[in-house]
Amino acid sequence: MSAQTAATGPAPTLSVVVPMFNEQDAVPPLVARLRPVLDGLGVGYEVVAVDDGSRDATAAVLFDHGRTWPQLRIVRLRRNSGHQAALTAGLHRARGEWVVSIDADLQDPPETIAEMLRVAHAAGVDVVYGVRADRSTDTPFKRHTAGAYYRLMRRLVGAEVPAQAGDFRLLSRAAVTALRDLPERSPVYRLLVPALGFPSAQVRYARAGRVAGRTKYPLRRMVALAWESTASFSAAPLRLATWLGTLAFLACLALIGYGAVVYANGTVIPGWTSLFLAVLLLSAVQLICLGLLGSYVGRIYAAVQDRPVYHVAFDSADQPSPAAAFDAPTSVPG
Ligand code: UDP
Ligand code: MG
Repeated sequence: MSAQTAATGPAPTLSVVVPMFNEQDAVPPLVARLRPVLDGLGVGYEVVAVDDGSRDATAAVLFDHGRTWPQLRIVRLRRNSGHQAALTAGLHRARGEWVVSIDADLQDPPETIAEMLRVAHAAGVDVVYGVRADRSTDTPFKRHTAGAYYRLMRRLVGAEVPAQAGDFRLLSRAAVTALRDLPERSPVYRLLVPALGFPSAQVRYARAGRVAGRTKYPLRRMVALAWESTASFSAAPLRLATWLGTLAFLACLALIGYGAVVYANGTVIPGWTSLFLAVLLLSAVQLICLGLLGSYVGRIYAAVQDRPVYHVAFDSADQPSPAAAFDAPTSVPG
């Protein structure tokens, strides 16, 4: 079976979705380790490599491997759209009865995929989470921030969110369809999947170090993911404005009382410092609340615009000529 006939032939049993951004050095070791695992499963499979608008040679390296690995399907996004959007593209295009998502950097061991399938069949569940039992290869900073993130998310979304379960998971076709049908614009899958409530199981694995390249999740993106996760599941930050306002009001009442006493005593002092601090504090509180409000309005704005979150430039399953396809990705300016 060739990659070109993959979209028209019978649906494979398993789709492996691999989002990748600037992973040219990780692709060869990934292929070397993933392929024997998948070939050894004894079922039909496809690997949906989603090249998330990489600016390095990721696409070219993928096409190189695609020549000798017909099950490798390459979906190239026109521009970098982010990890979750790349996952969305992969989930939308995957055709398998089961869909597993895995990082390109071999931090998630491909061998665990076989175990996930076994557990899914044995336990009769729709979702199998890969749970990071050992993060000793991550930096202490990453471990601590990740720990805080999962604690916050379990409070916001509920205890069904498994701690330390990232985006390495197996989904049944029913779960993938349910996810696709959600009108969510910027899905945070590690929260959405548990929120769907499908029967699930867990497989524990040790998180390895990155095989090549650098993390694509600098602090800025980690903060963005944490905010996205919070805002997509909770309006609690908006209520913060009410609490801050109430506090400020109580403080004002106390200050009014104080002012009245001072006035009655006739000891009116210049009072520049207290005025100055009060103005600073209140305007800061107002700006914070406006900012929070603005970020939710921004989400409404994006939802109303309803623009696609990713643009597919190319899918090797649809493209008749691999040669023409090969030119397309490399011509995208960096
Ligand atoms: N990734 C992506 N688009 C992005 C950023 C990351 O497709 O904009 C991919 C990346 O190539 C990797 C996965 O998402 O396969 C997870 O990223 P990374 O390993 O950098 O994150 P970390 O493991 O450090 O949290
Ligand atoms: Mg990684």
